[in-house]
Amino acid sequence: MNHGAPCLLVVDDDPAVAELICMTAADVGFSSSATDSVDFTTLGGHLDLIVLDLHMPGKDGVELIRDLALSRRGTAVFLVSGLGQRMLDTAAELAVAHGLRYMGAMRKPFAYEDLFESLLTVKGELSRPPPSPSSASDYIDVSELESAIERLEIEAAFQPIVSVATGQVVAAECLARWRHPKRGLLVPGRFIPLAERYGLISEVNWAVLSSAVGYLQASDPKRVVPLSVNFSAHDFTELELPDRLAGMLDSAGVQNELINIELTESSMIHDMPRTLDTMIRLRIKGVGLWLDDFGTGYSSMEQLRRLPISAMKLDISFMPKDSNWAASLALFQGLVDMARNVNLPMIAEGVETPRQLEMLRELGCERAQGYLFGRPMPPDVFRQWLDSRL
Ligand code: C2E
Ligand code: CA
Ligand code: CA
Repeated sequence: MNHGAPCLLVVDDDPAVAELICMTAADVGFSSSATDSVDFTTLGGHLDLIVLDLHMPGKDGVELIRDLALSRRGTAVFLVSGLGQRMLDTAAELAVAHGLRYMGAMRKPFAYEDLFESLLTVKGELSRPPPSPSSASDYIDVSELESAIERLEIEAAFQPIVSVATGQVVAAECLARWRHPKRGLLVPGRFIPLAERYGLISEVNWAVLSSAVGYLQASDPKRVVPLSVNFSAHDFTELELPDRLAGMLDSAGVQNELINIELTESSMIHDMPRTLDTMIRLRIKGVGLWLDDFGTGYSSMEQLRRLPISAMKLDISFMPKDSNWAASLALFQGLVDMARNVNLPMIAEGVETPRQLEMLRELGCERAQGYLFGRPMPPDVFRQWLDSRL
């Protein structure tokens, strides 16, 4: 713990600006110093806050944000830049994605009073404990995820999908889990955003698919249900996706019809010709294509009707809750009516209560997924669970 004045380092190549920041920080009560370049691997001593200029001749602010994250010093960041608000916003997002404690930003040129006020607020913030999601022990960096993919630590958890009419298990969704050697089993919220940001999402998706195929390969063909995996917009712009997938299934001796791919509505706007090409070829090969999170995107019925989709998943956020049943029921019913227009089977997500299941029955929604039937399960647990029901 630092008991004296909090320590601040200004990294800015403009000496006049650096001096103004140092002076203001000293007035606020920081112990401050300035430099035009810094190496976090060799920098000694405790540092509470770094005030970082984005645009510098040597290592720029973005590189320093990355270095700071890797150094795991727990130092908070305040950004300054003459490059405009948009750049500052993006850099701020980057700092947060790295798990850094982001404290705000200021556009150059700035007035003493404005900076004084901002730094005073930051000083107050620093005296409070950091919020838990970005605390040092929770922080995951991208190289850790990269090696996790190589070491096959990404696997699938299986959540059942049942027939509303009969209660029978008709399919299961494979959801990504990271079996982390130290942190335990991590849910997608902890690593999917990181994977998306650093171009690793495809590798995660293929890892989950591979785990799903492995499950099917190791199972008695009479005791399996079709499995669905989540793919991203980017995967669908890869024209070799259908062949790669079919090749993988073929070498495992698994039927193409046992795999469905879930694709979110909002992601389909990317590169329509390639996406359509991939979708059609997947369907020709017998792979199912499910529209995920239906209701959250902007597609018109016309657009949806033209896509080679085999089922629609109604987004979890529309599932009516006891707390505002009447109002949310009307909205949900509207969504079901829209989906019915497209003439495809519907899967409702997030079913937690018998009342919700009864409502689905009345509305004629065919399939349901949710905690009422089963939570996502590791492969062995799912196999036993399924055996007791098939
Ligand atoms: P999703 O595809 O909409 O998946 C459904 C999420 O809802 C899952 O969370 C599931 O555990 C949760 N869920 C299921 N039933 C219930 C319920 O009755 N109540 C509530 N409150 N939640 C329920 P999970 O596993 O944390 O996954 C979250 C999201 O992460 C997924 O949403 C999907 O968008 C993404 N994701 C998961 N696996 C992958 C993957 O392999 N690749 C990609 N690209 N995204 C993935
Ligand atoms: Ca999904
Ligand atoms: Ca969904």
